[in-house]
This record gives sequence, structure tokens and C-alpha cells, in this order.
Amino acid sequence: MASGRVDLDGRPIKAITICMIGAGGFIGSHLCEKLMAETPHTVLAVDVYNDKIQHLLEPSTLPWTGRIHFHRINIKHDSRLEGLIKMADLVSSSLLKFLSTINLAAICTPADYNTRPLDTIYSNFIDAIPVVKYCSENNKRLIHFSTCEIYGKTIGSFLPKDHPLRQDPAFYVLKEDASPCIFGPIEKQRWSYACAKQLIERLIYAEGAENGLEFTIVRPFNWIGPRMDFIPGIDGPSEGVPRVLACFSNNLLRGEPLKLVDGGQSQRTFVYIKDAIEAVLLMIENPARANGHIFNVGNPNNEVTVKQLAEMMTEVYRKVSGKPALEVPTIDVSSKEFYGEGYDDSDKRIPDMTIINKQLGWNPKTSLWDLLESTLTYQHRTYADAIKQAIAKPMASS
Ligand code: NAD
Ligand code: UDP
Repeated sequence: MASGRVDLDGRPIKAITICMIGAGGFIGSHLCEKLMAETPHTVLAVDVYNDKIQHLLEPSTLPWTGRIHFHRINIKHDSRLEGLIKMADLVSSSLLKFLSTINLAAICTPADYNTRPLDTIYSNFIDAIPVVKYCSENNKRLIHFSTCEIYGKTIGSFLPKDHPLRQDPAFYVLKEDASPCIFGPIEKQRWSYACAKQLIERLIYAEGAENGLEFTIVRPFNWIGPRMDFIPGIDGPSEGVPRVLACFSNNLLRGEPLKLVDGGQSQRTFVYIKDAIEAVLLMIENPARANGHIFNVGNPNNEVTVKQLAEMMTEVYRKVSGKPALEVPTIDVSSKEFYGEGYDDSDKRIPDMTIINKQLGWNPKTSLWDLLESTLTYQHRTYADAIKQAIAKPMASS
């Protein structure tokens, strides 16, 4: 598994210890899985939850026993985080070559941005400051998860609908080192997340410039796949609003129409989590090529409107579940009704791939249809029975 592995420049890859904050989340769980199955690295997994990595932690006969350690720590108010990084420093000077910190911790569901703007800003900016500081002070490399939402709206979105320049990529393709960050007014609290993420990116960049912090910033463009968020009323709150993949999965599992916010006209590019994790592994194992860079990680070939996504998911779900689609598969809802006051939206998100291609040679592989097929197969297998029981229960009690 580990022997003979080399980096992109042909050098042998040495085992490292990674302090992964937010390891129990969607991306963290896939990254832990990849690191355990395909590398010799050790993970200090920090999170408040571990349900999504439970299968990696037990039983003690797993081949990677001893290489993943879960620490239930809320980084908001727990001094153990610094201790962990310091303790790992000792480890680093004896057996292991160096320690990387990967920070994934965040509130990152749009339903929270305008309804819980304070938590959003604290989680994405204030709580991340100590992580940056400890890395800088202890000479640790940091891979920080930002977001594609940092670009905000495209320049083209301010042109009239039929303006020819809207077709010019210069007006919509998002480039790490050239595109501006365009957010709406303060009262549109949707942008509290993007703004907090931008400020922490600027802090990390400044720590790099002034104090030599070794960093890589990742901007995920709608990574989707199994274990994303939760299904309301099954493994998350009934009234909770997860991201679109889980919202639409929930509707399909329950046989309800999919809700299109403001007609589902916004455009997104979706990338399969397993493709995206390959990119993160390249960043981890090729520090000389990744340090000092900000990387878009997405799949520009998988662009759809949210309405088209709903139609495709309906079709794929019909195939994987064997259940017929509803006669009226979607309904329109206003953003105010769905998300509340202060919601706004990114119009279009196409990642420019030049930098990640040049530095790491990474390209996404999986088509939207294929990634939806494997993801909805997982959703059906994991949740269909639980949903059936949840729907039957109130009827049985009445
Ligand atoms: P997620 O919500 O599944 O994972 C985040 C994890 O961080 C959760 O397990 C949560 O419990 C943990 N966490 C939050 N606050 C914490 C705290 N105070 N202490 C300890 N743990 C804490 O989200 P994800 O999709 O895995 O996203 C990971 C990162 O990537 C986030 O920073 C997010 O902003 C960024 N991102 C993801 C996407 C995507 O497509 N999935 C898109 C843009 C940005
Ligand atoms: N959306 C929708 N119906 C839903 C959930 C989301 O139409 O049930 C839309 C949402 O308004 C946005 C897009 O889907 O335009 C993607 O939303 P998501 O929550 O995945 O996050 P975002 O890409 O905006 O960060």
C-alpha cells in the first residue's frame, strides 16, 4: 500500500502526521478514508462529531489501526487544540517528518448564512484565527478549506440578460489570481459566509507573506457525493435545510416534488467527491508544488442549472430505485419562503483550472450522470427503509 509511492517529482513519499480539523464532516470523512486506504499517513481527527468516520475508528482489527485518532474537540473553546499541535511537534521531530494541519471546520450550509449570520462569521473567520496562528508560530504547514463562493457573483451577471458579452468567458470564468470577489449589500446576509472566508484567506496569505507560513488554500466548487450533510428527520433535524444534493435526495426518497428556489435558474458545476479528494491528496503529498497557492477544485464540464439538476436527479433516482417519477416532479418556491430574509445567490460558477493543472496535473474524471448514479444508489440504500418507517409511524399512531 505505502511502499514505492513517489510524489509528482519522483521523490519517495514519507509518512506524515496530519491534524485534520473538521475530519468528521462530509469532505473530512472521504479524506480520512483515502488516507487510511492508500497512504501511510497518520491522522489526528478533530471534530465534535464522528458518525461519518465511525467505520474507520472501529473495530481495532482494521489494517490502519493506530493511524487514526479521534479527538472530540470544539475548536471554539478548547485549549487542547494548541496542545495537540504542540504534542505533534514532538512526534514530528522523532518518527515523522512533519505535520500538516488541514482545516475543514465551518458552518457551510447556505440556510445558515442569512438566518445564523453571527455563527457563520465566527465559525468561518474568528474560530479559524487560532488555527492560523498556531500553524504560523509552530512552523506547521496549513491546508485551509475556503470556498468558491468567495468569488460571489460573476461580472457578467450585471450585464443585461441578452448582452453578447455574457457569452464571453472573461465575464464569468472564475480565476484564482484575477477574478474579483463581488458580494451583495450587507443586508443580504447570505454573503456573511463568503466575506468571512475571504478575510481568513487574506489573513493566511498575509501570514505567508510576512511570517513565512507555508499554506495552501482550497476553493471547492460544489463537491458532492455520499455522506453529504443529512436527511432531515432521519439523521438530522426535521426542520433543517441541508445543501441541494441532500434536499433533493430527501424529496426523492419521500416521493415529494423537488423545490426550485426562485425557479432554479442559478447555475452550478458539480464535482464528484472522490475526484476532488484526489486533488487534495496531491496537495498533501506535493508541498513544494502546492505551497503558496490557492486552488479552484471543481469540474467545469459538469455545469447545469439547478432546474436541470432536479430533472437529472429525478431521472437517475427513477432508474436506481425502480420507482416511477412524480407527474409534477418540481415546484417553484421563493427564496424568501425557503431560506428567509437576506438570501441572495451566486449566479454561475465555472472554475478556471489552469493553476491546478499546471501545479498538480489534476483533472476531474466523473460525469454528472455517473456521480449522481453512484450517489443516489447510496442514498437509496442508506435511507429508503428509514424513510418508509418514518412515514408509516405517524399513520400507525393515528
Ligand atoms: P461539513 O459540514 O460536512 O464538515 C465540516 C465539519 O467541521 C463538521 O463535521 C463539523 O462538525 C466540523 N466543525 C464545525 N465547527 C467545528 C468546531 N468549532 N470544532 C470542531 N469541529 C467543527 O462540510 P464539508 O462539506 O465537509 O466542508 C468542509 C469545508 O469545505 C468547509 O470549510 C466548507 O466551507 C468548505 N467547502 C465545502 C464545499 C463543498 O462542496 N462540500 C464547498 C465550498 C466550501
Ligand atoms: N436550491 C434549490 N432547492 C433546494 C436547495 C437548494 O433550488 O431544495 C438551490 C439554491 O438556491 C442554490 C443551489 O440550489 O441556488 C445550490 O444550493 P446549495 O445549498 O447546494 O449551496 P450553494 O451552491 O449555493 O453554496
